[in-house]
Amino acid sequence: MSAKLILGKVVSEDIYEELRQRIEVLKAAGTVPGLAVILVGDDPASQVYVRMKEKKCEELGMKSMPVNMPKSTTQDELLTKVDELNRNDAVHGYLVQLPLPKHIDEDAVINAIDPSKDVDCFHPYNVGRMLIGEPKFLPATPAGVQQMLIRSGIETAGKHVVVVGRSNIVGKPMAAMMMQKGKGADCTVTVANSKTVDLPSITKQADILIVAVGKAHFITADMVKPGATVIDVGTNRISDSTARNGTRLVGDVDPSVAEVASAMTPVPKGVGPMTICMLMANTVKAAEYATEAVR
Ligand code: NAP
Repeated sequence: MSAKLILGKVVSEDIYEELRQRIEVLKAAGTVPGLAVILVGDDPASQVYVRMKEKKCEELGMKSMPVNMPKSTTQDELLTKVDELNRNDAVHGYLVQLPLPKHIDEDAVINAIDPSKDVDCFHPYNVGRMLIGEPKFLPATPAGVQQMLIRSGIETAGKHVVVVGRSNIVGKPMAAMMMQKGKGADCTVTVANSKTVDLPSITKQADILIVAVGKAHFITADMVKPGATVIDVGTNRISDSTARNGTRLVGDVDPSVAEVASAMTPVPKGVGPMTICMLMANTVKAAEYATEAVR
């Protein structure tokens, strides 16, 4: 078997097309969706992610509002900036690029974000709403995975989903979303972590296997049920002497899985492009909520 590839680049283009239309409607009503991204410090990987978000905002005709703060920023200074963005009506959504420098308490910062502008969906209020099945926003990466399943015609109702990884950013919300009632969900869900005993016996039960571990080529073909759908969230940089910069991006899933699975996402070009796409979707949604609220 050679698995069908599910490409985030292709799925995200359909969503961007829908977003462009919604942005036009908002603009006609006098609202330009605005996204601010706070970057504290000069971590090169974070700078790349922030630039990608700014570029996508501009491409869609949204307003991008970068906020760059030095690494020496104190927690109080950052909280003051968060408060400013909470009060700024031109900012419909914003996020604080993680990780923050070690002297800043991430939870305190996330808790200070106005939940109606929390387009990363990290605030406990939004996490709680998601859990009870009444989301205002959905966290970008898991929402991207769910859209890939829906838009690739992969049936989820009644399927056994195994999520490997339980982080607050990917694994936990992914599991919570797949267990909800409704489209792209209605699954029986198992969540594995580093303490799980005999992981292969569990991953082999999955009709849909979602992997967010952060270990290159961790899931091998013998851990996958024939015909399963395999979603690889992992992004790992490994050395490769044939590559121009000596490294290469790979996922958590070994390429040999393509011989067993019926569908899978590659790395790169798989889940990656969906994350920014869903962040843009949340920003448009936040602008729509704000426009509704003043009507
Ligand atoms: P994380 O916070 O490090 O969490 C990794 C999870 O994997 C933890 O829950 C850990 O279990 C589990 N794990 C580690 N070893 C395991 C093992 N041997 N068996 C089973 N589970 C194991 O990472 P994350 O933030 O969720 O990210 C995971 C990967 O996804 C990373 O490669 C990251 O770069 C990537 N990512 C990609 C995107 C994207 O847009 N494509 C977005 C976010 C993340 P414990 O809880 O027991 O430690």
